[in-house]
Amino acid sequence: MTRLVLLGPPGAGKGTQAALLAARLQVPAISTGDIFRANVAGRTELGLTVERYLDAGEYVPDSVTNAMVRDRLAQPDAADGFILDGYPRTTEQVRELDGMLAEAGAQLEHVLEITADTDELVRRLVARGRAQGRSDDTEDVIRNRQRVYAEQTAPLVQVYAERGLLRSVDGLGEVAEVTARLVAALEHVVDLREVQLPRTAQDAVSG
Ligand code: AMP
Repeated sequence: MTRLVLLGPPGAGKGTQAALLAARLQVPAISTGDIFRANVAGRTELGLTVERYLDAGEYVPDSVTNAMVRDRLAQPDAADGFILDGYPRTTEQVRELDGMLAEAGAQLEHVLEITADTDELVRRLVARGRAQGRSDDTEDVIRNRQRVYAEQTAPLVQVYAERGLLRSVDGLGEVAEVTARLVAALEHVVDLREVQLPRTAQDAVSG
């Protein structure tokens, strides 16, 4: 059972890594950006509401995003775990996610941050824009997305660090190398728990 959040600036490789980790951990990868884009492409009501935010590289309002995530996490495939890619992105979304999990009697186990230098990110996103034709992968919008991330989402790193959930991983290098770093970060957390288990058992015996 894994409930994991992936943090990191646009272009750090969250989507790619979320999909790889999801296959490995056997939980769904839930990407708010993908869900919004699918709705825009399908011309749904949600799509029509969010399109202008995506095109401008601005965040969709919390009320809209939170409602969408609440619906998605209520689906049966997310009951035993998930990887959230691109959510939460604001402190309000952190509060909302805490509430959703508390209602389900669940808690977040890991927050992995993928780090990368801004110039490298812009270079990658410009290349992705050429390859995939994403409407928000143009240089102006990319710069705006980096700015919005720095202002609204970067503070979440501190929030999760204070909860002892955060591990940061270098996002530069081959895809497989970054995946290996993420898996190592997860295993490290698990190892620490295993180390503590016998001690607790011993305390119980000696106490
Ligand atoms: P992404 O694919 O994660 O880069 O997201 C693409 C775009 O979707 C973002 O630039 C936002 O406009 C919107 N979006 C995705 N996730 C969120 C979120 N958690 N809160 C607000 N807007 C979001």
